[in-house]
Amino acid sequence: MEEQHDACPICNQISLWRKGENSYFIHEFKNSIFVVGNHQFHKGYSLVFLKNHVRELHELPQPVQAELFHELMIAAGAIAATFQPWKLNYACYGNVVPHIHWHIIPRYESDPDRLQNPWVHSSEFDKHLINQRAAQDLADRIRQQLHMLLGRRA
Ligand SMILES: [Zn+2]
Repeated sequence: MEEQHDACPICNQISLWRKGENSYFIHEFKNSIFVVGNHQFHKGYSLVFLKNHVRELHELPQPVQAELFHELMIAAGAIAATFQPWKLNYACYGNVVPHIHWHIIPRYESDPDRLQNPWVHSSEFDKHLINQRAAQDLADRIRQQLHMLLGRRA
């Protein structure tokens, strides 16, 4: 079952991916896609988008909840392997875009504000936007690590 909303920016990113036109795309899971974040204020910032337009995690059927969490953990493992962060932060709000998505935000010891929430400097995110070429390069690096992780699990 595919449920898409034309006005939703995440549904639009998913439809770009389905057309093969999403430079931020890293990997397709059963229930979600894994993408590079549009800014890299936190190096390695990435997201997991549920493929279907659903507003709340608790509304998902229980097996999908479990599978989505597993997909998030594989994505996080690939980010950790690629960037060796001090800590990973996870966020799932959906106040601005009510389509289930997880932010994966690597934090580094070099960040003097690493004990703060990752949005403390959100006004600066736009200064760290990346172009499509940079997104593809990052996606390639992360995908390599992800394939190694998946290979080890097999
Ligand atoms: Zn949506």
